[in-house]
Amino acid sequence: MNGLLLNVCCAPCALPIIDHLLAVERLPIGSLALYFYGPNIFPEAEYLKRLEETRRIAVQYGLEFVEGGYDHNSWLTYLKERLDAPLESYGENSERCQLCFKFRLLTTAEYAAENNFQEFATTLSVSRFKDTTAINDFGEELARESKLKYRTFPLDADEAHKKGLELSRQYGVYRQKYCGCEFSLPPT
Ligand code: SF4
Repeated sequence: MNGLLLNVCCAPCALPIIDHLLAVERLPIGSLALYFYGPNIFPEAEYLKRLEETRRIAVQYGLEFVEGGYDHNSWLTYLKERLDAPLESYGENSERCQLCFKFRLLTTAEYAAENNFQEFATTLSVSRFKDTTAINDFGEELARESKLKYRTFPLDADEAHKKGLELSRQYGVYRQKYCGCEFSLPPT
């Protein structure tokens, strides 16, 4: 398999991008693979729920699906080694999140290079909740280092969010209420 490896954090974020790639950009189904990679997700039961929903979507569209593996402890260690304050003291879109994006993109680019993909991309790049400029800058930096192409999408974040809701309803997809890690869990 060659082509585009799309890093996916959850099915609702992946749906508008898959729809765009297949329906608008007319990418052949065999040129797109979903790479589910979410070591940031906590607890593991939540990880498994998002994983299975993404796998279900891949089957629905006939796309290749790859699970990147769940190593939450490595993710925690990577962040702790690079930040001075306790992880829970950082808010969303802080330095903690920047490192979280990097960790996920690094692994995605590595997998893409090792498995002969020409391009990689991430669903994070279309999120209306994330610092997409920082995400895309890092994606471009990794692309230069790995000799791959980093792909972005000409999608408006609000429109993509609406499309994601519409397609999630259509496929009955589970939609989570928090970003992913234990530090973003809603108050109980
Ligand atoms: S809030 Fe989201 S982006 Fe930030 S560290 Fe947690 S999982 Fe990563």
